[in-house]
Amino acid sequence: MESPRAAYVHVPFCRHRCGYCDFAVVAGRDDLVDRYLGAIGQELGRLPAALDLDTLYVGGGTPSHLGAEGLRRLWGAFAGRLAPVAGAEVTIEANPADVDAALVAAAVACGVSRVSLGAQSLSARTLAALDRDHTPEQVRRAVALLLGAGLAVNIDVMTAAPGQSLAEVERDLDDVLDLGVHHVSVYCLTWERGTRFIGLLNRGALERAEEDLERRMFEGAIERLEAGGFEHYEVSNFAHPGHRCRHNERYWDCRPWEAFGPGAARFDGRTRTTNHRSPFTWMRRVEAGLDPAADHDRMTAEGAARERIVVGLRRRDGIVREAFQRESGLSFDGLAGDLVRGWVANGWAVDDGARVRLTRSGLLLSDSLWEGVLGDGSRGGGRG
Ligand code: SF4
Repeated sequence: MESPRAAYVHVPFCRHRCGYCDFAVVAGRDDLVDRYLGAIGQELGRLPAALDLDTLYVGGGTPSHLGAEGLRRLWGAFAGRLAPVAGAEVTIEANPADVDAALVAAAVACGVSRVSLGAQSLSARTLAALDRDHTPEQVRRAVALLLGAGLAVNIDVMTAAPGQSLAEVERDLDDVLDLGVHHVSVYCLTWERGTRFIGLLNRGALERAEEDLERRMFEGAIERLEAGGFEHYEVSNFAHPGHRCRHNERYWDCRPWEAFGPGAARFDGRTRTTNHRSPFTWMRRVEAGLDPAADHDRMTAEGAARERIVVGLRRRDGIVREAFQRESGLSFDGLAGDLVRGWVANGWAVDDGARVRLTRSGLLLSDSLWEGVLGDGSRGGGRG
Protein backbone atom coordinates (compact mmCIF):
# COMPACT_ATOMS: atom_id res chain seq x y z
CA MET A 1 0.00 0.00 0.00
CA GLU A 2 1.26 3.52 -0.86
CA SER A 3 2.80 5.22 2.18
CA PRO A 4 1.31 8.59 3.11
CA ARG A 5 3.02 11.71 1.79
CA ALA A 6 0.44 14.05 3.30
CA ALA A 7 -0.32 14.82 6.95
CA TYR A 8 -2.94 16.80 8.84
CA VAL A 9 -2.42 18.13 12.38
CA HIS A 10 -5.39 19.42 14.36
CA VAL A 11 -4.84 22.32 16.78
CA PRO A 12 -7.99 22.53 18.93
CA PHE A 13 -7.62 26.00 20.46
CA CYS A 14 -9.74 29.06 19.71
CA ARG A 15 -10.09 32.33 21.55
CA HIS A 16 -13.86 32.17 21.23
CA ARG A 17 -16.31 29.54 19.96
CA CYS A 18 -18.25 30.92 17.00
CA GLY A 19 -21.99 30.31 17.33
CA TYR A 20 -22.19 28.03 14.28
CA CYS A 21 -19.12 25.91 15.00
CA ASP A 22 -19.28 22.22 15.86
CA PHE A 23 -15.57 21.44 15.32
CA ALA A 24 -13.37 19.68 17.88
CA VAL A 25 -12.23 22.87 19.65
CA VAL A 26 -11.82 24.33 23.12
CA ALA A 27 -12.18 28.07 23.66
CA GLY A 28 -10.54 30.00 26.47
CA ARG A 29 -8.39 27.03 27.62
CA ASP A 30 -4.90 28.23 26.77
CA ASP A 31 -3.78 26.56 30.01
CA LEU A 32 -3.94 23.28 28.03
CA VAL A 33 -1.47 24.31 25.32
CA ASP A 34 1.61 22.81 27.02
CA ARG A 35 -0.21 19.54 27.58
CA TYR A 36 -1.46 19.48 23.99
CA LEU A 37 2.02 20.07 22.56
CA GLY A 38 3.37 17.23 24.68
CA ALA A 39 0.59 14.92 23.51
CA ILE A 40 1.16 15.79 19.84
CA GLY A 41 4.82 14.86 20.32
CA GLN A 42 3.76 11.56 21.90
CA GLU A 43 1.24 10.77 19.16
CA LEU A 44 3.85 11.50 16.50
CA GLY A 45 6.21 9.25 18.40
CA ARG A 46 4.15 6.22 17.34
CA LEU A 47 5.38 6.69 13.76
CA PRO A 48 8.03 4.09 13.03
CA ALA A 49 10.06 6.59 10.98
CA ALA A 50 9.95 10.18 9.78
CA LEU A 51 7.35 10.86 7.09
CA ASP A 52 8.56 12.62 3.95
CA LEU A 53 5.69 14.89 3.08
CA ASP A 54 4.57 16.58 -0.13
CA THR A 55 1.88 18.40 1.85
CA LEU A 56 1.37 19.26 5.51
CA TYR A 57 -1.82 20.97 6.68
CA VAL A 58 -2.12 22.37 10.19
CA GLY A 59 -5.77 23.17 10.83
CA GLY A 60 -8.17 23.59 13.68
CA GLY A 61 -9.43 25.20 15.69
CA THR A 62 -7.08 28.06 15.17
CA PRO A 63 -3.38 27.18 14.83
CA SER A 64 -2.50 30.89 14.78
CA HIS A 65 -3.94 31.16 18.30
CA LEU A 66 -0.73 29.43 19.46
CA GLY A 67 1.14 32.65 18.57
CA ALA A 68 4.66 32.88 17.17
CA GLU A 69 6.28 31.05 20.06
CA GLY A 70 3.61 28.35 20.16
CA LEU A 71 3.98 27.77 16.43
CA ARG A 72 7.74 27.27 16.85
CA ARG A 73 7.08 24.82 19.68
CA LEU A 74 4.57 22.91 17.56
CA TRP A 75 7.17 22.60 14.82
CA GLY A 76 9.62 21.46 17.46
CA ALA A 77 7.19 18.61 18.25
CA PHE A 78 7.15 17.70 14.53
CA ALA A 79 10.96 17.47 14.37
CA GLY A 80 12.24 14.12 13.22
CA ARG A 81 8.68 12.88 12.46
CA LEU A 82 7.02 15.17 9.91
CA ALA A 83 9.49 16.11 7.22
CA PRO A 84 8.14 18.25 4.37
CA VAL A 85 10.36 17.76 1.30
CA ALA A 86 11.75 20.68 -0.71
CA GLY A 87 8.86 22.42 -2.50
CA ALA A 88 6.22 20.86 -0.22
CA GLU A 89 2.99 22.75 0.36
CA VAL A 90 2.83 23.59 4.07
CA THR A 91 -0.40 25.28 5.16
CA ILE A 92 -1.53 26.70 8.48
CA GLU A 93 -4.98 28.06 9.23
CA ALA A 94 -5.11 31.47 10.85
CA ASN A 95 -7.56 33.87 12.39
CA PRO A 96 -6.99 37.31 10.81
CA ALA A 97 -6.85 38.85 14.30
CA ASP A 98 -3.78 36.75 15.17
CA VAL A 99 -1.69 37.68 12.14
CA ASP A 100 1.08 40.11 13.04
CA ALA A 101 4.70 40.51 11.95
CA ALA A 102 5.96 38.09 14.64
CA LEU A 103 3.54 35.33 13.62
CA VAL A 104 4.36 35.76 9.94
CA ALA A 105 8.11 35.62 10.69
CA ALA A 106 7.63 32.44 12.76
CA ALA A 107 5.54 30.85 10.00
CA VAL A 108 8.18 31.61 7.39
CA ALA A 109 10.94 30.30 9.67
CA CYS A 110 8.96 27.06 10.18
CA GLY A 111 8.71 26.56 6.41
CA VAL A 112 5.03 27.47 6.02
CA SER A 113 4.26 28.24 2.37
CA ARG A 114 0.53 28.91 2.51
CA VAL A 115 -1.88 30.45 5.02
CA SER A 116 -5.61 29.83 5.02
CA LEU A 117 -7.41 32.75 6.65
CA GLY A 118 -10.76 32.16 8.32
CA ALA A 119 -11.97 35.55 7.15
CA GLN A 120 -15.57 34.56 6.25
CA SER A 121 -16.51 38.12 5.22
CA LEU A 122 -15.22 41.63 4.73
CA SER A 123 -18.45 43.14 6.04
CA ALA A 124 -18.58 44.16 9.70
CA ARG A 125 -22.31 43.44 9.73
CA THR A 126 -21.89 39.90 8.35
CA LEU A 127 -18.97 39.16 10.70
CA ALA A 128 -21.17 40.18 13.64
CA ALA A 129 -24.05 38.05 12.28
CA LEU A 130 -21.62 35.09 12.13
CA ASP A 131 -20.40 35.73 15.69
CA ARG A 132 -16.82 36.15 14.47
CA ASP A 133 -14.28 37.92 16.65
CA HIS A 134 -12.28 39.81 14.03
CA THR A 135 -12.84 42.89 11.88
CA PRO A 136 -12.64 43.55 8.12
CA GLU A 137 -9.60 45.78 8.77
CA GLN A 138 -7.82 42.86 10.44
CA VAL A 139 -8.48 40.70 7.37
CA ARG A 140 -6.99 43.35 5.06
CA ARG A 141 -3.97 43.84 7.31
CA ALA A 142 -3.38 40.08 7.63
CA VAL A 143 -3.54 39.55 3.86
CA ALA A 144 -1.11 42.42 3.24
CA LEU A 145 1.38 41.01 5.78
CA LEU A 146 1.16 37.48 4.39
CA LEU A 147 1.44 38.50 0.74
CA GLY A 148 4.31 40.82 1.67
CA ALA A 149 6.15 37.81 3.12
CA GLY A 150 5.71 35.88 -0.14
CA LEU A 151 3.18 33.39 1.26
CA ALA A 152 0.30 31.95 -0.74
CA VAL A 153 -3.03 32.98 0.81
CA ASN A 154 -6.45 31.36 0.89
CA ILE A 155 -9.50 33.21 2.16
CA ASP A 156 -12.55 31.34 3.48
CA VAL A 157 -15.79 33.11 2.63
CA MET A 158 -19.12 32.15 4.13
CA THR A 159 -22.47 32.80 2.48
CA ALA A 160 -26.06 32.62 3.78
CA ALA A 161 -25.17 34.23 7.12
CA PRO A 162 -28.26 35.16 9.17
CA GLY A 163 -29.88 38.19 7.55
CA GLN A 164 -27.32 38.39 4.72
CA SER A 165 -28.59 39.63 1.35
CA LEU A 166 -27.48 38.61 -2.14
CA ALA A 167 -26.06 42.11 -2.67
CA GLU A 168 -23.96 41.73 0.49
CA VAL A 169 -22.49 38.44 -0.77
CA GLU A 170 -21.67 40.05 -4.11
CA ARG A 171 -19.99 43.00 -2.39
CA ASP A 172 -18.01 40.58 -0.21
CA LEU A 173 -16.72 38.74 -3.27
CA ASP A 174 -15.79 42.03 -4.98
CA ASP A 175 -13.85 43.01 -1.85
CA VAL A 176 -12.14 39.60 -1.74
CA LEU A 177 -11.09 40.00 -5.39
CA ASP A 178 -9.48 43.33 -4.49
CA LEU A 179 -7.30 41.62 -1.85
CA GLY A 180 -5.16 39.83 -4.45
CA VAL A 181 -5.21 36.40 -2.74
CA HIS A 182 -4.37 33.19 -4.59
CA HIS A 183 -7.22 30.94 -3.48
CA VAL A 184 -10.79 31.33 -2.20
CA SER A 185 -12.99 28.73 -0.52
CA VAL A 186 -16.71 29.52 -0.42
CA TYR A 187 -19.00 27.74 2.02
CA CYS A 188 -22.66 28.13 2.78
CA LEU A 189 -23.41 28.40 6.51
CA THR A 190 -24.51 25.00 7.81
CA TRP A 191 -26.70 24.69 10.86
CA GLU A 192 -25.19 21.93 12.97
CA ARG A 193 -26.87 20.15 15.86
CA GLY A 194 -25.63 21.19 19.28
CA THR A 195 -24.45 24.66 18.22
CA ARG A 196 -25.65 27.93 19.74
CA PHE A 197 -26.96 29.00 16.32
CA ILE A 198 -29.27 25.99 16.00
CA GLY A 199 -30.68 26.74 19.47
CA LEU A 200 -31.35 30.34 18.42
CA LEU A 201 -32.88 29.13 15.13
CA ASN A 202 -35.22 26.78 16.98
CA ARG A 203 -36.30 29.61 19.29
CA GLY A 204 -36.97 31.88 16.31
CA ALA A 205 -34.16 34.29 17.25
CA LEU A 206 -32.26 33.62 14.02
CA GLU A 207 -33.56 33.09 10.53
CA ARG A 208 -32.15 30.71 7.97
CA ALA A 209 -31.82 31.85 4.33
CA GLU A 210 -34.26 30.25 1.89
CA GLU A 211 -32.78 27.48 -0.25
CA ASP A 212 -33.31 29.49 -3.42
CA LEU A 213 -31.41 32.47 -1.96
CA GLU A 214 -28.57 30.16 -0.82
CA ARG A 215 -28.34 28.87 -4.36
CA ARG A 216 -28.32 32.33 -5.94
CA MET A 217 -25.62 33.43 -3.51
CA PHE A 218 -23.46 30.49 -4.50
CA GLU A 219 -24.06 31.08 -8.21
CA GLY A 220 -23.19 34.75 -7.71
CA ALA A 221 -19.94 33.74 -5.98
CA ILE A 222 -18.98 31.40 -8.85
CA GLU A 223 -19.70 34.05 -11.47
CA ARG A 224 -17.75 36.79 -9.70
CA LEU A 225 -14.73 34.66 -8.88
CA GLU A 226 -14.53 33.19 -12.39
CA ALA A 227 -14.80 36.68 -13.88
CA GLY A 228 -11.96 37.67 -11.52
CA GLY A 229 -9.63 35.03 -13.02
CA PHE A 230 -10.19 32.21 -10.51
CA GLU A 231 -10.57 28.66 -11.71
CA HIS A 232 -13.53 26.92 -10.05
CA TYR A 233 -11.81 23.57 -9.56
CA GLU A 234 -13.94 21.94 -6.86
CA VAL A 235 -17.46 22.63 -5.60
CA SER A 236 -16.27 25.03 -2.88
CA ASN A 237 -12.80 25.94 -4.11
CA PHE A 238 -11.38 28.53 -6.50
CA ALA A 239 -7.73 29.11 -7.38
CA HIS A 240 -5.54 31.23 -9.55
CA PRO A 241 -3.54 29.05 -11.99
CA GLY A 242 -0.92 27.04 -10.11
CA HIS A 243 -2.51 27.66 -6.70
CA ARG A 244 -4.92 24.77 -6.20
CA CYS A 245 -4.67 23.32 -2.69
CA ARG A 246 -2.39 20.34 -3.24
CA HIS A 247 -3.21 18.89 0.17
CA ASN A 248 -6.95 18.75 -0.53
CA GLU A 249 -6.27 17.39 -4.00
CA ARG A 250 -4.58 14.41 -2.36
CA TYR A 251 -7.73 13.81 -0.29
CA TRP A 252 -9.83 13.99 -3.43
CA ASP A 253 -7.49 11.62 -5.24
CA CYS A 254 -8.17 9.15 -2.37
CA ARG A 255 -4.46 8.88 -1.63
CA PRO A 256 -3.43 7.97 1.91
CA TRP A 257 -2.70 10.61 4.51
CA GLU A 258 -1.69 10.68 8.17
CA ALA A 259 -3.43 12.74 10.83
CA PHE A 260 -2.75 13.74 14.42
CA GLY A 261 -4.63 15.55 17.17
CA PRO A 262 -8.19 15.45 18.51
CA GLY A 263 -10.83 14.57 15.93
CA ALA A 264 -8.19 14.13 13.21
CA ALA A 265 -8.92 11.42 10.62
CA ARG A 266 -6.27 9.44 8.72
CA PHE A 267 -6.78 7.26 5.67
CA ASP A 268 -4.67 4.32 4.52
CA GLY A 269 -6.38 3.78 1.17
CA ARG A 270 -9.20 1.64 2.56
CA THR A 271 -9.75 2.48 6.24
CA ARG A 272 -10.52 5.91 7.68
CA THR A 273 -9.46 6.09 11.34
CA THR A 274 -10.71 9.01 13.41
CA ASN A 275 -9.29 10.11 16.74
CA HIS A 276 -11.47 10.96 19.73
CA ARG A 277 -13.03 14.37 19.13
CA SER A 278 -12.75 15.55 22.71
CA PRO A 279 -9.33 17.15 23.23
CA PHE A 280 -9.47 15.88 26.83
CA THR A 281 -10.15 12.26 25.89
CA TRP A 282 -7.56 12.42 23.09
CA MET A 283 -4.90 13.82 25.47
CA ARG A 284 -5.68 11.34 28.24
CA ARG A 285 -5.41 8.38 25.89
CA VAL A 286 -2.22 9.56 24.21
CA GLU A 287 -0.62 10.30 27.59
CA ALA A 288 -1.58 6.84 28.85
CA GLY A 289 0.00 5.21 25.80
CA LEU A 290 -3.43 4.13 24.50
CA ASP A 291 -4.66 4.32 20.91
CA PRO A 292 -6.40 7.72 20.55
CA ALA A 293 -8.64 6.42 17.74
CA ALA A 294 -12.38 6.36 18.36
CA ASP A 295 -13.53 5.00 15.04
CA HIS A 296 -12.24 2.71 12.28
CA ASP A 297 -14.31 2.92 9.15
CA ARG A 298 -13.20 0.13 6.83
CA MET A 299 -14.63 0.35 3.35
CA THR A 300 -15.19 -2.49 0.95
CA ALA A 301 -13.54 -2.14 -2.47
CA GLU A 302 -16.93 -1.11 -3.82
CA GLY A 303 -17.52 1.37 -1.00
CA ALA A 304 -14.11 2.96 -1.62
CA ALA A 305 -14.85 3.16 -5.35
CA ARG A 306 -18.21 4.84 -4.68
CA GLU A 307 -16.52 7.41 -2.44
CA ARG A 308 -14.01 7.97 -5.23
CA ILE A 309 -16.92 8.82 -7.55
CA VAL A 310 -18.28 11.43 -5.13
CA VAL A 311 -14.97 13.20 -4.52
CA GLY A 312 -14.11 12.93 -8.23
CA LEU A 313 -17.35 14.48 -9.41
CA ARG A 314 -17.10 17.34 -6.90
CA ARG A 315 -14.11 18.43 -8.99
CA ARG A 316 -14.54 20.32 -12.23
CA ASP A 317 -12.05 17.95 -13.90
CA GLY A 318 -14.55 15.16 -13.23
CA ILE A 319 -13.75 11.48 -13.65
CA VAL A 320 -11.84 9.83 -16.47
CA ARG A 321 -13.28 6.33 -16.86
CA GLU A 322 -9.97 4.66 -17.67
CA ALA A 323 -8.15 6.20 -14.68
CA PHE A 324 -11.07 5.34 -12.41
CA GLN A 325 -10.95 1.67 -13.46
CA ARG A 326 -7.16 1.56 -13.04
CA GLU A 327 -7.20 3.11 -9.56
CA SER A 328 -10.32 1.49 -8.10
CA GLY A 329 -10.30 -1.84 -9.98
CA LEU A 330 -13.99 -1.36 -10.76
CA SER A 331 -16.01 -0.12 -13.73
CA PHE A 332 -17.38 3.42 -13.40
CA ASP A 333 -20.40 2.50 -15.50
CA GLY A 334 -21.02 -0.64 -13.49
CA LEU A 335 -21.38 1.55 -10.39
CA ALA A 336 -22.94 4.74 -11.69
CA GLY A 337 -23.69 4.40 -15.44
CA ASP A 338 -27.49 4.53 -15.05
CA LEU A 339 -27.36 7.48 -12.68
CA VAL A 340 -25.05 9.44 -14.95
CA ARG A 341 -27.29 8.89 -17.99
CA GLY A 342 -30.14 10.47 -16.01
CA TRP A 343 -27.93 13.38 -14.93
CA VAL A 344 -26.86 14.02 -18.53
CA ALA A 345 -30.50 14.01 -19.66
CA ASN A 346 -31.28 16.62 -16.97
CA GLY A 347 -28.33 18.83 -17.90
CA TRP A 348 -26.51 18.10 -14.62
CA ALA A 349 -23.54 16.29 -16.20
CA VAL A 350 -21.70 16.02 -19.50
CA ASP A 351 -20.21 12.75 -20.73
CA ASP A 352 -17.85 12.62 -23.73
CA GLY A 353 -17.42 8.86 -23.46
CA ALA A 354 -14.02 9.12 -21.77
CA ARG A 355 -14.73 11.65 -19.02
CA VAL A 356 -17.80 12.56 -16.95
CA ARG A 357 -18.09 16.02 -15.42
CA LEU A 358 -20.87 17.80 -13.57
CA THR A 359 -22.18 21.01 -15.14
CA ARG A 360 -22.61 24.10 -12.99
CA SER A 361 -26.23 23.18 -12.29
CA GLY A 362 -25.06 19.68 -11.34
CA LEU A 363 -22.44 21.09 -8.99
CA LEU A 364 -25.07 23.26 -7.31
CA LEU A 365 -27.21 20.17 -6.77
CA SER A 366 -24.35 17.85 -5.97
CA ASP A 367 -25.12 17.06 -2.32
CA SER A 368 -28.49 15.69 -3.34
CA LEU A 369 -26.92 13.57 -6.11
CA TRP A 370 -24.59 11.61 -3.85
CA GLU A 371 -27.23 9.57 -2.10
CA GLY A 372 -27.77 7.65 -5.32
CA VAL A 373 -24.04 6.97 -5.62
CA LEU A 374 -23.39 5.99 -2.01
CA GLY A 375 -26.71 4.57 -0.89
CA ASP A 376 -25.89 0.87 -0.78
CA GLY A 377 -24.45 0.30 2.69
CA SER A 378 -21.15 -0.82 1.20
CA ARG A 379 -19.08 -0.22 4.34
CA GLY A 380 -17.80 -2.88 6.62
CA GLY A 381 -16.18 -2.55 10.01
CA GLY A 382 -17.30 -0.13 12.67
CA ARG A 383 -16.19 1.29 15.95
CA GLY A 384 -13.08 -0.12 17.44
S1 SF4 B 1 -12.55 30.13 14.77
FE1 SF4 B 1 -13.15 28.40 13.45
S2 SF4 B 1 -12.71 26.54 14.64
FE2 SF4 B 1 -12.68 28.29 16.08
S3 SF4 B 1 -14.75 28.35 16.91
FE3 SF4 B 1 -14.73 29.76 15.15
S4 SF4 B 1 -15.38 28.48 13.39
FE4 SF4 B 1 -14.82 27.08 15.07
